[in-house]
Amino acid sequence: MIVAMQERATEEDIQGVIERLVQVGFNVHRTTGTVQTVLAGVGTPSHFDHKDFELLPGVAEVVRITSPYKLAGRGFRPEGTVVRFPNGVAVGGDEIVVMAGPCSVESREQIFTIADQVKSAGASFLRGGAFKPRSSPYSFQGMGLDGLKLLREVGDRTGLLIISEVMEISQIDLMLPYVDVLQVGARNMQNFNLLRELGKINKPVLLKRGIAATLEELLLSAEYIMAGGNYDVILCERGIRTFETYTRNTLDVSAIPIIKKLSHLPMTSDPSHGTGLRDKVPPMARASLAAGADALLIEVHHDPDRALSDGAQSLFPDQFAKLMEELRMIAPAVGRKMA
Ligand code: PEP
Ligand code: MN
Repeated sequence: MIVAMQERATEEDIQGVIERLVQVGFNVHRTTGTVQTVLAGVGTPSHFDHKDFELLPGVAEVVRITSPYKLAGRGFRPEGTVVRFPNGVAVGGDEIVVMAGPCSVESREQIFTIADQVKSAGASFLRGGAFKPRSSPYSFQGMGLDGLKLLREVGDRTGLLIISEVMEISQIDLMLPYVDVLQVGARNMQNFNLLRELGKINKPVLLKRGIAATLEELLLSAEYIMAGGNYDVILCERGIRTFETYTRNTLDVSAIPIIKKLSHLPMTSDPSHGTGLRDKVPPMARASLAAGADALLIEVHHDPDRALSDGAQSLFPDQFAKLMEELRMIAPAVGRKMA
Protein backbone atom coordinates (compact mmCIF):
# COMPACT_ATOMS: atom_id res chain seq x y z
CA MET A 1 0.00 0.00 0.00
CA ILE A 2 1.27 3.48 -0.86
CA VAL A 3 0.38 6.51 1.26
CA ALA A 4 1.15 9.83 -0.40
CA MET A 5 1.27 12.66 2.15
CA GLN A 6 -0.02 16.17 1.45
CA GLU A 7 2.56 18.81 0.56
CA ARG A 8 1.77 20.63 3.78
CA ALA A 9 1.85 17.52 6.00
CA THR A 10 3.91 18.04 9.14
CA GLU A 11 6.57 15.68 10.45
CA GLU A 12 4.10 14.83 13.21
CA ASP A 13 1.47 13.77 10.60
CA ILE A 14 4.06 11.63 8.84
CA GLN A 15 5.12 9.93 12.07
CA GLY A 16 1.44 9.32 12.90
CA VAL A 17 0.90 7.48 9.62
CA ILE A 18 4.13 5.49 10.02
CA GLU A 19 3.00 4.39 13.48
CA ARG A 20 -0.39 3.22 12.15
CA LEU A 21 1.27 1.33 9.27
CA VAL A 22 3.59 -0.45 11.69
CA GLN A 23 0.69 -1.14 14.05
CA VAL A 24 -1.33 -3.03 11.42
CA GLY A 25 1.75 -5.02 10.41
CA PHE A 26 3.47 -3.21 7.50
CA ASN A 27 7.18 -2.60 7.04
CA VAL A 28 7.47 1.06 6.13
CA HIS A 29 9.72 2.52 3.45
CA ARG A 30 9.85 6.30 3.46
CA THR A 31 10.68 8.52 0.52
CA THR A 32 11.11 12.18 1.44
CA GLY A 33 10.81 14.31 -1.68
CA THR A 34 11.37 18.02 -1.95
CA VAL A 35 7.64 18.73 -1.92
CA GLN A 36 5.98 15.56 -0.77
CA THR A 37 6.65 12.49 1.38
CA VAL A 38 5.55 9.06 0.20
CA LEU A 39 5.25 6.06 2.53
CA ALA A 40 5.25 2.53 1.15
CA GLY A 41 3.71 -0.10 3.42
CA VAL A 42 5.20 -3.48 2.48
CA GLY A 43 3.70 -6.76 3.68
CA THR A 44 0.33 -8.50 3.67
CA PRO A 45 -1.56 -7.63 6.86
CA SER A 46 -5.18 -8.68 6.56
CA HIS A 47 -7.21 -6.96 9.25
CA PHE A 48 -7.25 -3.36 8.17
CA ASP A 49 -9.18 -1.12 5.85
CA HIS A 50 -7.02 1.04 3.60
CA LYS A 51 -9.72 3.70 3.61
CA ASP A 52 -8.99 4.34 7.32
CA PHE A 53 -5.62 5.73 6.25
CA GLU A 54 -7.26 8.31 4.00
CA LEU A 55 -8.72 9.92 7.12
CA LEU A 56 -5.41 10.35 8.99
CA PRO A 57 -4.11 13.92 9.27
CA GLY A 58 -1.83 14.96 6.41
CA VAL A 59 -2.72 12.11 4.04
CA ALA A 60 -3.35 13.04 0.38
CA GLU A 61 -3.96 9.67 -1.25
CA VAL A 62 -3.87 5.97 -0.45
CA VAL A 63 -3.27 3.42 -3.19
CA ARG A 64 -3.79 -0.23 -2.45
CA ILE A 65 -1.37 -2.41 -4.39
CA THR A 66 -2.20 -5.95 -3.41
CA SER A 67 -5.71 -7.25 -4.12
CA PRO A 68 -8.11 -7.99 -1.24
CA TYR A 69 -8.81 -11.45 -2.69
CA LYS A 70 -5.83 -13.74 -2.23
CA LEU A 71 -7.13 -17.14 -3.33
CA ALA A 72 -9.22 -15.91 -6.25
CA GLY A 73 -6.45 -13.63 -7.57
CA ARG A 74 -4.38 -14.64 -10.59
CA GLY A 75 -1.22 -14.71 -8.51
CA PHE A 76 -2.48 -17.70 -6.50
CA ARG A 77 -2.42 -19.94 -9.61
CA PRO A 78 -0.81 -18.03 -12.47
CA GLU A 79 -1.30 -20.99 -14.83
CA GLY A 80 -5.10 -20.84 -14.43
CA THR A 81 -7.62 -23.20 -12.86
CA VAL A 82 -9.15 -26.01 -14.87
CA VAL A 83 -12.28 -27.52 -13.31
CA ARG A 84 -12.37 -31.18 -14.36
CA PHE A 85 -15.31 -33.56 -14.43
CA PRO A 86 -15.25 -37.37 -14.23
CA ASN A 87 -16.35 -37.77 -17.87
CA GLY A 88 -13.34 -35.79 -19.13
CA VAL A 89 -15.07 -32.43 -19.67
CA ALA A 90 -12.90 -29.58 -18.36
CA VAL A 91 -13.83 -25.92 -17.87
CA GLY A 92 -10.96 -23.45 -18.08
CA GLY A 93 -8.72 -25.42 -20.47
CA ASP A 94 -8.34 -25.10 -24.25
CA GLU A 95 -11.85 -26.26 -24.92
CA ILE A 96 -14.96 -24.06 -24.78
CA VAL A 97 -17.73 -25.76 -22.82
CA VAL A 98 -21.39 -25.05 -23.55
CA MET A 99 -24.06 -25.41 -20.86
CA ALA A 100 -27.52 -25.29 -22.39
CA GLY A 101 -31.12 -26.03 -21.54
CA PRO A 102 -34.29 -24.43 -20.30
CA CYS A 103 -34.52 -21.79 -17.62
CA SER A 104 -36.61 -24.19 -15.48
CA VAL A 105 -37.32 -27.87 -15.45
CA GLU A 106 -41.06 -27.96 -16.23
CA SER A 107 -41.95 -31.58 -16.95
CA ARG A 108 -40.44 -34.92 -17.85
CA GLU A 109 -41.33 -34.54 -21.51
CA GLN A 110 -39.92 -31.00 -21.64
CA ILE A 111 -36.54 -31.76 -20.09
CA PHE A 112 -36.03 -35.03 -21.99
CA THR A 113 -36.87 -33.37 -25.30
CA ILE A 114 -34.56 -30.40 -24.74
CA ALA A 115 -31.73 -32.57 -23.38
CA ASP A 116 -31.65 -34.60 -26.61
CA GLN A 117 -31.70 -31.43 -28.69
CA VAL A 118 -28.85 -29.64 -26.89
CA LYS A 119 -26.83 -32.86 -26.72
CA SER A 120 -27.05 -33.45 -30.46
CA ALA A 121 -26.02 -29.83 -31.10
CA GLY A 122 -22.88 -30.38 -28.99
CA ALA A 123 -23.57 -29.08 -25.47
CA SER A 124 -21.62 -30.72 -22.62
CA PHE A 125 -23.95 -29.62 -19.82
CA LEU A 126 -27.70 -29.54 -19.40
CA ARG A 127 -28.88 -26.52 -17.43
CA GLY A 128 -32.27 -26.22 -15.75
CA GLY A 129 -33.53 -24.70 -12.53
CA ALA A 130 -35.42 -26.86 -10.04
CA PHE A 131 -35.51 -24.02 -7.52
CA LYS A 132 -36.25 -20.70 -9.22
CA PRO A 133 -35.51 -17.22 -7.86
CA ARG A 134 -38.45 -15.40 -9.48
CA SER A 135 -38.94 -11.67 -9.15
CA SER A 136 -42.62 -12.28 -8.34
CA PRO A 137 -43.84 -14.71 -5.70
CA TYR A 138 -46.76 -15.56 -8.00
CA SER A 139 -44.54 -16.79 -10.87
CA PHE A 140 -43.60 -20.47 -11.31
CA GLN A 141 -41.18 -21.35 -8.51
CA GLY A 142 -39.76 -24.57 -9.95
CA MET A 143 -40.39 -28.30 -9.53
CA GLY A 144 -38.03 -28.72 -6.56
CA LEU A 145 -36.85 -32.26 -5.77
CA ASP A 146 -38.92 -33.78 -8.60
CA GLY A 147 -37.06 -31.49 -11.00
CA LEU A 148 -33.69 -32.57 -9.61
CA LYS A 149 -34.60 -36.24 -10.07
CA LEU A 150 -35.56 -35.63 -13.69
CA LEU A 151 -32.29 -33.78 -14.29
CA ARG A 152 -30.22 -36.65 -12.91
CA GLU A 153 -32.16 -39.24 -14.86
CA VAL A 154 -31.79 -37.41 -18.15
CA GLY A 155 -28.15 -36.60 -17.36
CA ASP A 156 -27.37 -40.28 -16.85
CA ARG A 157 -29.25 -41.22 -20.00
CA THR A 158 -27.60 -38.66 -22.28
CA GLY A 159 -24.17 -38.32 -20.67
CA LEU A 160 -24.77 -34.59 -20.19
CA LEU A 161 -23.41 -33.05 -17.01
CA ILE A 162 -26.02 -31.25 -14.90
CA ILE A 163 -25.98 -27.68 -13.59
CA SER A 164 -28.80 -26.29 -11.45
CA GLU A 165 -29.28 -23.39 -9.07
CA VAL A 166 -29.03 -23.61 -5.30
CA MET A 167 -30.93 -20.83 -3.52
CA GLU A 168 -30.38 -21.60 0.13
CA ILE A 169 -28.23 -23.59 2.53
CA SER A 170 -30.93 -26.20 3.22
CA GLN A 171 -30.96 -27.18 -0.47
CA ILE A 172 -27.24 -28.04 -0.68
CA ASP A 173 -27.38 -31.58 0.72
CA LEU A 174 -30.58 -32.22 -1.17
CA MET A 175 -28.97 -31.23 -4.47
CA LEU A 176 -25.55 -32.87 -4.18
CA PRO A 177 -26.60 -36.36 -5.35
CA TYR A 178 -28.36 -34.94 -8.41
CA VAL A 179 -26.13 -32.24 -9.90
CA ASP A 180 -22.55 -31.90 -11.15
CA VAL A 181 -22.32 -28.13 -10.64
CA LEU A 182 -24.26 -25.96 -8.19
CA GLN A 183 -25.14 -22.56 -9.62
CA VAL A 184 -25.32 -19.52 -7.36
CA GLY A 185 -27.65 -17.03 -9.01
CA ALA A 186 -27.13 -13.31 -9.42
CA ARG A 187 -29.51 -12.57 -6.55
CA ASN A 188 -27.45 -14.70 -4.18
CA MET A 189 -23.96 -13.56 -5.14
CA GLN A 190 -23.60 -11.85 -1.79
CA ASN A 191 -25.45 -14.42 0.31
CA PHE A 192 -22.31 -14.91 2.35
CA ASN A 193 -23.72 -17.66 4.56
CA LEU A 194 -24.62 -19.69 1.47
CA LEU A 195 -21.18 -19.06 -0.06
CA ARG A 196 -19.45 -20.20 3.14
CA GLU A 197 -21.40 -23.48 3.14
CA LEU A 198 -20.54 -24.03 -0.54
CA GLY A 199 -16.91 -23.71 0.48
CA LYS A 200 -17.26 -26.95 2.41
CA ILE A 201 -18.54 -29.19 -0.40
CA ASN A 202 -16.50 -31.00 -3.00
CA LYS A 203 -18.50 -30.18 -6.09
CA PRO A 204 -17.84 -27.21 -8.40
CA VAL A 205 -19.82 -24.01 -7.96
CA LEU A 206 -20.75 -21.62 -10.78
CA LEU A 207 -20.99 -18.15 -9.26
CA LYS A 208 -22.95 -15.53 -11.18
CA ARG A 209 -22.23 -11.83 -10.98
CA GLY A 210 -24.89 -9.89 -9.07
CA ILE A 211 -27.04 -7.46 -11.02
CA ALA A 212 -25.30 -4.47 -9.44
CA ALA A 213 -22.01 -6.06 -8.39
CA THR A 214 -18.55 -4.83 -9.26
CA LEU A 215 -15.98 -7.31 -10.49
CA GLU A 216 -14.08 -6.89 -7.22
CA GLU A 217 -17.24 -7.89 -5.34
CA LEU A 218 -17.63 -10.93 -7.60
CA LEU A 219 -14.07 -12.00 -6.83
CA LEU A 220 -14.55 -11.41 -3.10
CA SER A 221 -17.63 -13.66 -3.23
CA ALA A 222 -15.53 -16.34 -4.96
CA GLU A 223 -13.00 -15.83 -2.16
CA TYR A 224 -15.69 -16.76 0.40
CA ILE A 225 -16.17 -20.14 -1.31
CA MET A 226 -12.44 -20.75 -1.77
CA ALA A 227 -11.60 -19.75 1.80
CA GLY A 228 -13.63 -22.79 2.91
CA GLY A 229 -11.43 -25.10 0.82
CA ASN A 230 -13.52 -25.48 -2.36
CA TYR A 231 -11.29 -24.17 -5.15
CA ASP A 232 -13.53 -25.36 -7.99
CA VAL A 233 -15.26 -22.06 -8.62
CA ILE A 234 -16.42 -20.99 -12.09
CA LEU A 235 -17.37 -17.34 -12.53
CA CYS A 236 -20.16 -16.05 -14.76
CA GLU A 237 -21.03 -12.69 -16.30
CA ARG A 238 -24.82 -12.55 -16.78
CA GLY A 239 -25.47 -8.90 -17.39
CA ILE A 240 -25.74 -6.00 -15.00
CA ARG A 241 -28.39 -3.37 -14.48
CA THR A 242 -27.81 -0.13 -16.35
CA PHE A 243 -30.04 2.72 -17.52
CA GLU A 244 -30.61 0.94 -20.84
CA THR A 245 -34.13 -0.43 -21.20
CA TYR A 246 -33.91 -2.03 -24.64
CA THR A 247 -32.27 -5.13 -23.17
CA ARG A 248 -33.21 -6.88 -19.91
CA ASN A 249 -29.65 -6.41 -18.63
CA THR A 250 -26.44 -5.10 -20.14
CA LEU A 251 -24.03 -7.97 -20.81
CA ASP A 252 -20.64 -6.65 -19.73
CA VAL A 253 -18.42 -8.41 -22.26
CA SER A 254 -15.41 -6.48 -20.97
CA ALA A 255 -15.81 -8.37 -17.67
CA ILE A 256 -14.45 -11.44 -19.46
CA PRO A 257 -10.92 -10.20 -20.27
CA ILE A 258 -10.82 -8.26 -16.99
CA ILE A 259 -11.62 -11.34 -14.90
CA LYS A 260 -9.23 -13.48 -16.95
CA LYS A 261 -6.48 -11.03 -16.03
CA LEU A 262 -7.38 -10.54 -12.37
CA SER A 263 -8.22 -14.17 -11.57
CA HIS A 264 -7.17 -17.72 -12.41
CA LEU A 265 -10.77 -18.94 -12.22
CA PRO A 266 -12.61 -20.02 -15.39
CA MET A 267 -15.01 -17.42 -16.77
CA THR A 268 -18.42 -18.07 -18.26
CA SER A 269 -20.78 -15.79 -20.15
CA ASP A 270 -24.58 -16.03 -20.02
CA PRO A 271 -25.89 -14.04 -22.99
CA SER A 272 -29.46 -15.23 -22.32
CA HIS A 273 -29.94 -13.35 -19.04
CA GLY A 274 -27.38 -10.83 -20.30
CA THR A 275 -29.72 -9.58 -23.01
CA GLY A 276 -33.15 -11.09 -22.31
CA LEU A 277 -33.86 -11.14 -26.05
CA ARG A 278 -33.61 -14.30 -28.12
CA ASP A 279 -32.25 -12.65 -31.27
CA LYS A 280 -29.48 -10.92 -29.29
CA VAL A 281 -28.23 -14.16 -27.73
CA PRO A 282 -26.24 -15.59 -30.69
CA PRO A 283 -24.27 -12.38 -31.42
CA MET A 284 -23.42 -11.93 -27.73
CA ALA A 285 -22.46 -15.60 -27.42
CA ARG A 286 -20.10 -15.20 -30.38
CA ALA A 287 -18.68 -12.01 -28.89
CA SER A 288 -18.18 -13.70 -25.51
CA LEU A 289 -16.24 -16.55 -27.08
CA ALA A 290 -14.07 -14.09 -28.98
CA ALA A 291 -13.50 -12.11 -25.76
CA GLY A 292 -12.04 -15.15 -24.02
CA ALA A 293 -14.91 -16.89 -22.22
CA ASP A 294 -14.16 -20.46 -21.16
CA ALA A 295 -17.79 -21.52 -21.14
CA LEU A 296 -21.23 -20.30 -22.24
CA LEU A 297 -24.52 -20.70 -20.38
CA ILE A 298 -27.42 -20.55 -22.83
CA GLU A 299 -31.15 -20.99 -22.41
CA VAL A 300 -32.79 -23.26 -24.99
CA HIS A 301 -36.43 -24.40 -25.04
CA HIS A 302 -38.27 -26.69 -27.47
CA ASP A 303 -41.38 -24.50 -27.19
CA PRO A 304 -40.24 -21.11 -25.87
CA ASP A 305 -43.60 -19.43 -26.40
CA ARG A 306 -45.04 -21.75 -23.77
CA ALA A 307 -42.04 -21.77 -21.40
CA LEU A 308 -42.91 -21.23 -17.73
CA SER A 309 -39.94 -18.88 -17.35
CA ASP A 310 -37.65 -16.84 -19.60
CA GLY A 311 -39.23 -17.91 -22.89
CA ALA A 312 -38.39 -14.61 -24.61
CA GLN A 313 -34.67 -15.18 -24.18
CA SER A 314 -34.67 -18.93 -24.87
CA LEU A 315 -33.31 -20.07 -28.24
CA PHE A 316 -35.27 -22.45 -30.44
CA PRO A 317 -33.31 -25.71 -30.77
CA ASP A 318 -32.45 -25.07 -34.44
CA GLN A 319 -31.15 -21.59 -33.55
CA PHE A 320 -28.97 -23.16 -30.89
CA ALA A 321 -27.62 -25.76 -33.33
CA LYS A 322 -26.75 -22.99 -35.79
CA LEU A 323 -25.04 -20.99 -33.06
CA MET A 324 -22.95 -24.04 -32.11
CA GLU A 325 -21.78 -24.31 -35.74
CA GLU A 326 -20.77 -20.66 -35.69
CA LEU A 327 -18.92 -21.09 -32.41
CA ARG A 328 -17.01 -24.01 -33.94
CA MET A 329 -15.76 -21.63 -36.63
CA ILE A 330 -14.86 -18.81 -34.22
CA ALA A 331 -13.05 -20.92 -31.62
CA PRO A 332 -9.94 -21.73 -33.72
CA ALA A 333 -9.60 -18.06 -34.64
CA VAL A 334 -8.97 -17.29 -30.95
CA GLY A 335 -6.81 -20.35 -30.29
CA ARG A 336 -9.55 -22.50 -28.77
CA LYS A 337 -11.71 -25.40 -29.79
CA MET A 338 -15.20 -26.50 -28.86
CA ALA A 339 -15.52 -29.33 -26.34
C1 PEP B 1 -30.97 -18.64 -14.37
O1 PEP B 1 -29.85 -19.04 -14.73
O2 PEP B 1 -32.05 -19.12 -14.80
C2 PEP B 1 -31.05 -17.49 -13.44
C3 PEP B 1 -32.08 -17.31 -12.63
O3 PEP B 1 -30.01 -16.66 -13.59
P1 PEP B 1 -29.62 -15.30 -12.83
O4 PEP B 1 -29.32 -15.68 -11.42
O5 PEP B 1 -28.41 -14.85 -13.60
O6 PEP B 1 -30.78 -14.36 -12.98
MN1 MN C 1 -33.62 -18.01 -16.61
